[in-house]
Amino acid sequence: MIYREKVEMKGFTGSCLCRAITYNSNTAPLRTFNCHCEDCRKCSGAPYLTNIFVKEDDLYIQGTLKSYIHQSESGNKITKKFCDQCGCQMFSLNEGRPGLVRIHAGTVNELLVIKPQGDVWVSKKIPSIKIDESLDQFQKNFA
Ligand SMILES: [Zn+2]
Ligand SMILES: [Zn+2]
Repeated sequence: MIYREKVEMKGFTGSCLCRAITYNSNTAPLRTFNCHCEDCRKCSGAPYLTNIFVKEDDLYIQGTLKSYIHQSESGNKITKKFCDQCGCQMFSLNEGRPGLVRIHAGTVNELLVIKPQGDVWVSKKIPSIKIDESLDQFQKNFA
């Protein structure tokens, strides 16, 4: 029984575009949200960003990341981590959520791991972007 639980415990892996940076998470995502805030749009160049949250301690990263630090709308310091070769934006750290890391879901290798439970910052959404009405929606961030 214990053996079987171990087998079913799901981690996942990922990389940047050029694969100079690779990572693996020891655990399944804690939560996953599509974020429509301007920071996520501007940093990724995409109409919205799907973020997977895991504990920092469960994430193992190989390769050299560059950092860019900025302030979120709520005033927290945000650190964006990206590949210094291909520029792929991979991770975000928010001082307001210590111990957690946001993985940008487009970098994940195992596509079935990416299961958003809702959309946040819907108030900032690009009007033409359709969202899944069956998922939770938050006008701002989740609590
Ligand atoms: Zn790269
Ligand atoms: Zn965002």
